[in-house]
Amino acid sequence: MKVIPGTAIDKTKHLPPKLRSIVEKTGPQGMKHPPIHFWTLTMDPEMLPKSRITLLGDAAHCMPSFRGEGGFHALLDALKLGKALARLRTNDTQVIKKVLGDYQDEMIERGSKASAWSSIALDEPWSGANAGPSIVWGLPVVHLPEEKVTL
Ligand SMILES: Cc1cc2nc3c(=O)[nH]c(=O)nc-3n(C[C@H](O)[C@H](O)[C@H](O)COP(=O)(O)OP(=O)(O)OC[C@H]3O[C@@H](n4cnc5c(N)ncnc54)[C@H](O)[C@@H]3O)c2cc1C
Repeated sequence: MKVIPGTAIDKTKHLPPKLRSIVEKTGPQGMKHPPIHFWTLTMDPEMLPKSRITLLGDAAHCMPSFRGEGGFHALLDALKLGKALARLRTNDTQVIKKVLGDYQDEMIERGSKASAWSSIALDEPWSGANAGPSIVWGLPVVHLPEEKVTL
């Protein structure tokens, strides 16, 4: 088969066959047009007002999926926000703003860092042999044993 430079087949030719097969089976006719558009949102914590309303997940730090971290951070945000809300024992707006503000500061800093890293994940020197460690749930990503999945 003639491989056209710059195509998905060309860009994945160095991968093991089991990872390439999905690209080969899709073919040009199976490709989505227009392609999925990835957004990167980074913020400084002070850019988001502190109030009784806050954000979590992609609304606060959407990122390209190249490090597979967006959903992880959305879940972490939800757990942290849930814990913060469970600690609240008052209707005092100032206390609520402080508790949500502390949550928000950590969430924005962590999420924006992940967004920035994800946006350059495919750029040299961040990909391939020079890629930094992928950390999920605070642990380095490791290979899982082979598993047969039947759909
Ligand atoms: C191709 C791809 C691969 C990915 N792979 C990974 C991965 O391997 N690991 C990982 O951790 N993350 C991955 N992600 C990222 C992950 O999917 C997102 O970060 C995560 O879904 C964000 O969750 P969320 O709840 O913040 O937002 P969303 O999941 O986008 O949920 C927002 C919801 O709000 C709804 N909505 C929007 N507007 C309105 C409205 N006006 N009224 C009511 N409802 C509304 C939407 O329909 C949607 O259901 C991937 C993303 C993509 C696109």
